[in-house]
Amino acid sequence: MSERIFISPAKYVQGKNAIKNIGQYVKDLGEQTVVIADETVWDIAGHDVVEQLKQENITAEEVLFNGEASKTEIERITDTANKANVTVVIGVGGGKTLDTAKAVSDEVNGYTVIVPTTASTDAPTSALSVVYSDKGVFEGYRFYKKNPDLVVIDTKIVAGAPPRFLASGIADALATWVEARSVIKVGGDTMAGGSTTIAAQAIAEKCEETLFQYAHLAYESVKAKSVTPALESIVEANTLLSGLGFESGGLAAAHAIHNGFTALKGDIHHMTHGEKVAFGTLVQLALEKHSIDEIERYITLYVSLGLPVTLEDIHLNDASRDDLMKVAEAATTEGETIHQAFNITADDVVDAIYAADQYAQAYKKKHAN
Ligand SMILES: [Zn+2]
Repeated sequence: MSERIFISPAKYVQGKNAIKNIGQYVKDLGEQTVVIADETVWDIAGHDVVEQLKQENITAEEVLFNGEASKTEIERITDTANKANVTVVIGVGGGKTLDTAKAVSDEVNGYTVIVPTTASTDAPTSALSVVYSDKGVFEGYRFYKKNPDLVVIDTKIVAGAPPRFLASGIADALATWVEARSVIKVGGDTMAGGSTTIAAQAIAEKCEETLFQYAHLAYESVKAKSVTPALESIVEANTLLSGLGFESGGLAAAHAIHNGFTALKGDIHHMTHGEKVAFGTLVQLALEKHSIDEIERYITLYVSLGLPVTLEDIHLNDASRDDLMKVAEAATTEGETIHQAFNITADDVVDAIYAADQYAQAYKKKHAN
């Protein structure tokens, strides 16, 4: 029996205008920093972060992120960070920027500060990155010796982002309990490298409960660009609860199937991480034994948030069984998280993909009027 392991970031700060206090938190870590953000995020938050750092006499090397969390990009930014003798690496933006910042920080042996500008994935708190090829194909997970030292999420910035991003984060977070409970059931290993704790189980369960309670209200709050208690609850669920829950609770089929989808060419690449995970979660539910009420509880939430539930919704209505077999083979490749909870073949996965699609089509037909 493996040891119980629970890991988490050292400090998590969330609130309206939280960025205004970032200087005082970073000062505790160091005074030579590199700030990584893409072009859009530099305008939304990057310059404000640098401004706050300057007020505390912290220097910031500014780097423009090229959009892909790839080996080449990680090496390029590591080079810049080394030349500037940086001790703190600050990533500002979405999942791929944050994953790159973690990798750079690991390379330079520095402190890691994560500033998510959306609540669109649960990447911020974890001690791992997902690394892609320069063309965006999933290559693998990269694990680090520690979680970020500081996570600062400003809910005013999150409220200003497109509602689709929040919905994607909700989908990513909704996978957390579905995957964790399947791993717990069979005693599989988690992303933290051991078996799960009561703490991680409680957090993952609470994550799902919070989503079913507040997801709609939070989604509507973001449409109104308003910070509300409902939004604060969902930002915490998407970021902290889902982050701790997936990492120390376990990933299973939903994320493995997501990873499989990245192997396909075409319009599916325009879907967000969370959108692909939404469909992956339905596939995992189809692999398990659930009542129609239980399956429809998830489909109802996805549909109400504009999330994809059918193959057509993820632009795969023209995919052949051979194409889906490619997805399933990638999802069941050796070392994939699906094996932590399921004893299945690629063929079983293809069947579940078709079944999930059919369940959602039937649901849509039933609720057409
Ligand atoms: Zn995810």
